[in-house]
Amino acid sequence: MNFYEPATLEEAAGLLAKDEDARPLAGGATLVAMMNAELLEPTSLVSLRRIASLNGISTSSDGTVTIGAMTTHHEVSNTEVLDGGQAIVRHAARVIGHPAIRNMGTMGGSISHADPAADYPAALVAANAMIETFGPSGTRDIKAEDFFIDFLETSLEQGELVSAVRLPPSSRGSSAAYEKFARVDGDFATLSVAVVVTMDTDTCTQIRVSLGSAGPTPVRADMADAALVGTVLDDDAVSAAAAILIEASDPLDDVRGSAEYRMMLVPELLRRAIAGARKLRS
Ligand code: FAD
Repeated sequence: MNFYEPATLEEAAGLLAKDEDARPLAGGATLVAMMNAELLEPTSLVSLRRIASLNGISTSSDGTVTIGAMTTHHEVSNTEVLDGGQAIVRHAARVIGHPAIRNMGTMGGSISHADPAADYPAALVAANAMIETFGPSGTRDIKAEDFFIDFLETSLEQGELVSAVRLPPSSRGSSAAYEKFARVDGDFATLSVAVVVTMDTDTCTQIRVSLGSAGPTPVRADMADAALVGTVLDDDAVSAAAAILIEASDPLDDVRGSAEYRMMLVPELLRRAIAGARKLRS
C-alpha cells in the first residue's frame, strides 16, 4: 500500500483521481477501523493532514461561517464563532462519540462516510449548509440535502474531496437545539432531531427540522416545517409536524433500535428540541 502526504488540494485530488482504490485519510477514526476489520483494502492512502487550507473555522463579513474539512469535532464543539441557528453544528459536535473520537474525527471524514446514524448530517441539513468540494473538475457547492444520497453514499465523484462546509448567516432571533437519543453515552444515535428556529416574540416565523437515523439519509419535510411556521409551537402543531416527519421517514431497523421504536421517539425528541432551542434564545 502506498502512503502519500500531499501539501495541496490539487495534488491530493490528482492522486485520488488516478486510482479508484485510493482513499483520502482524515482522522482515521472510521477508515483505520474498517481497514483493521478488513472491510476495506485501499491501494493508497492520501493523508489530508498537511493541506493547510483544510483546517480551521472562519467567518466572513456577511456572517457566513466556513469550517475546513480537517477541523476536528473537538474544535467545532468549542468554537465561539457559531451564532444563532449556526450553533446546531456545535451542539451536534458535542455529542459525537467520546473525547478520543472528537479529537481524531473531522468534519470532512464524518460527512464523507455518510453514516445515517452520525450527528453532523442532520445538523447540516437543518442549518441549510453547503458542502464545498474540490476535484478534477474544480470546485462544487452542494446543498447538504443533496450531498447525502443513500446509506454510506454521497454525491462525491471519483477523485473529489470535501474541502469545507459553509453555514449561511443566522437570521436575527434564530436559535438551535440538537436532541440525540442513544443507548449509552458515546454511542451513535438511535434517533436524533435537529431544529433551527426563528421566533418573533412567541410566534415561529421560520424553522428547519431534520431527523438523523430515521432513514438512509437525513429526513426533512417542507410540510412539517410549514405545520410549525405561524404557530406558537404548541403541542398540536408539534404533533402535526411529527406525524408528517414519521410519514417521510424510512427508518432503519438495527441493533440501535427497531424502526417502530425509532418512530415512537420522533414526537418527544421534536418537542424537546423545540423547547431546548426556545430556551437558548431567551
Ligand atoms: P476517516 O476515518 O479518516 O475517513 C472516513 C471516510 O471518509 C473514509 O472513506 C475516507 O476516505 C473519507 N474521507 C475522509 N476525509 C475526506 C474528505 N475531506 N473528503 C472526502 N472523503 C474523505 N460519529 C458520529 O457522528 N456520532 C457518534 O456518536 C460517533 N461515535 C463514534 C464512536 C466510535 C468508537 C468511532 C470509531 C467513531 C464514531 N463516530 C461517530 C464516527 C467519527 O465521528 C468519525 O469522525 C467519522 O466517522 C470519520 O471521521 P475521520 O475524520 O476519522 O475520517
